Formats: sequence, structure tokens, C-alpha cells
Amino acid sequence: MSYESTTTALAKELIQRPSITPEDAGCQIILAKLLDTLGYRVEHVDVGSVSNLWARKGDEYPNLVFVGHTDVVPVGNESEWIYPPFSATEIDGVLYGRGAADMKGSIAAMVTACQRFHSRYESFSGSMSLLITSDEEGIAVDGTRRVLEKLEARTETIDYCLVGEPTSVSVLGDTIKIGRRGSLCCELVVKGKQGHVAYPHLADNPIHRAGKLIAELAEMSWHDGGLNFPDTTLQISNINAGVGAGNVIPGRLNLSMNFRYSPATEVATLINDVESLCRSLDLDYEVNWNHSADPYYTSETHFANLVVDAVSRVLNRKPKLSTDGGTSDGRFVAGTGAQVIELGPLNSTIHKVNECVKTSDLDLLSQVYEQIMEMVLIGKSTWD
Ligand SMILES: [Zn+2]
Repeated sequence: MSYESTTTALAKELIQRPSITPEDAGCQIILAKLLDTLGYRVEHVDVGSVSNLWARKGDEYPNLVFVGHTDVVPVGNESEWIYPPFSATEIDGVLYGRGAADMKGSIAAMVTACQRFHSRYESFSGSMSLLITSDEEGIAVDGTRRVLEKLEARTETIDYCLVGEPTSVSVLGDTIKIGRRGSLCCELVVKGKQGHVAYPHLADNPIHRAGKLIAELAEMSWHDGGLNFPDTTLQISNINAGVGAGNVIPGRLNLSMNFRYSPATEVATLINDVESLCRSLDLDYEVNWNHSADPYYTSETHFANLVVDAVSRVLNRKPKLSTDGGTSDGRFVAGTGAQVIELGPLNSTIHKVNECVKTSDLDLLSQVYEQIMEMVLIGKSTWD
């Protein structure tokens, strides 16, 4: 007879709810019930079509918060999935489904860590909280930020924040994140003058003008890494020009690019780098900047050391401290002054078809989360 852990059972229950961003599809109701049973004060903070949940047990500080999201990215081409993406099929210890690794598995591990912790300890010093949103994979406007605003309004603060994003690369716990780069998007229009290809002197070809610009943008480099951060990078993601006919010089060229930048560089510097290049090439241009994410970096080392210690105790390995990858809601929590660390399952299948996670990893992850709770709230550690 096969054994199914409480963590796997809960992960399956969550995966079976097709909560494509910003839908929650009832996941947070399941979590609220479980946390309510454990004595948490549960609040639903719903904004428009976004569901958010804040649950706290205890009034004292430090306040340790587990952060996660119940929304998932779309499934992609469903026919490429070995098992239906919301079936939560488990085969040979591997659980398949959209959200298995990003990040319903982590949420299940968080909740079962709480269950075991509270059954072992009647009292603890500080508070334990969970902040769950259904708007992380989307525009992330009405999610975590709205809950933080609510907390701020009543001067409720967060000391230590553990985000369950899938940070592991080859084996569980080999990597934790202590920060993320910022993201800056740019939409640039190089303007020219439309005309007949046979009469170029009567037109102005923006494609020809953009050639130098693109070459120089691709060569741009910033040596601003350090503090565990890679250097700032710039990638051009889209180029568009032409009216479709072979005998027409187009009037405009559209270019999209994205910066992933380190905290050592200011957004204003990057904007100036690009715009002064455009001016130096004498381009007629229009530009639209969208600052989509601030970088964050947890420079205080107490909580990072504690998480490293918890991982080594449970998994017997020392995680690498990393800041690469995309953005996460950790940036919003870090903005409140909290120490933010991210630790979750393997990220090799996230956002892909056949997303999956090992059920044994979810059980171990739950133990690491419990260990972190114990070290912060009971103080059975040598840290600090
Ligand atoms: Zn995620």
C-alpha cells in the first residue's frame, strides 16, 4: 500500500483547482480552514478579481511570515502534457501538475509545517503568519502589496519573511535567494519617413538608422555586480518595422528591451545611458519606460544564516546564496524593512508543460520550514 503524506495530499488538492492568474479557484478557502483550526486569525483581503489571505497566530514579535501564491501560469499546449495539468497525477513519487513546483507544493509544505509545529509547541515567542496571494504571476498590483498596505496602516510589521518560490537548481536546498535584480522595460520608437524604395532620397529609413543603435545597445555592459549580484544586463526582446510590402520604406521601427539591473545602479542612469545613445546617433525617437520591479537585497545576515543553518540540519547540505532569476513578491516585503529569503523546490520544470515535483522533496521542504519556525520562534539554535 502506498503512503501519501499530508503535504502531498494538500498539494494535490490545491493543484486540482485551476487557479490561472489572478484566479484563486478556492485554494485560499482550503488554507483558511486549516489555519483557522490551528488557531490563526485569518483575514481575506480580496481586491477585484484577486484573492489574498493573511493569517497570523500570536501578537508578539518577531513576526515570521511565510509568503506564497496560489495563482499559476497558463498550461500552454495541453496536448503536450503527459497527464492533464490539473489532475495532480502522482507517478513513482513524482507529482505532476501546473503549480506543483510554482508554488502550490511549497504552500502545502508551509501549512503542514505549521500543523506539526503547533502540535509540538503550545506556546512560542513571537508570531507566525502566512501571506498568500493569487496575483503573483500576473501584474502583481492587487496582491501582496495590498496586504502589506493594510498591515502598514495598522502598524503590523514583518521581521523575517520566507518566500516559497522554487529556488533549488539540481537538488532540494542547493540554492536560496537573498535578493533579486530589478526589472526595467523600454519601448522605443525610431521615427523615419515612409516612402518608395526606388526614391530613398525622398524618405528616411528607420531600419537603417536603427542598425547602429541595436549594435551599440547589444554591446553595452555594466560592471556593477558584487554583493552576490550578477552585472546588469540588457536584452532586446522585440523588433518590428515594415508595412509588409517589399517596395515601401517604413516610417517607424519599434523596439522593446528589458534591463535586469543590480541594486548598485540607479534606474535614472540606465535611462540616461539609452537616451544619450539615441541622441548621439541623432535619432528622432519616442520612448516609454516602465519600471516593473525594484531590486531587493537582504544585507542583514541573521535570517539568511538561520535559513542556511536550517537547510544544513535537515538536508545536510549548504545552500548557495543567489540573486539571479526573475522577480518575486519578495521585493514588496523587503520594501517594508523585513529580512527576506526565498527557499523552495526545484525550478527546472516551472512554467513549462509537465511541471512536476518529487513528493519526497515536498516532505523534506516541509521539515526545513518547520525547522526555520523552531529556530525563530522557539530559539533552539546557535544563531545570533
Ligand atoms: Zn512562483
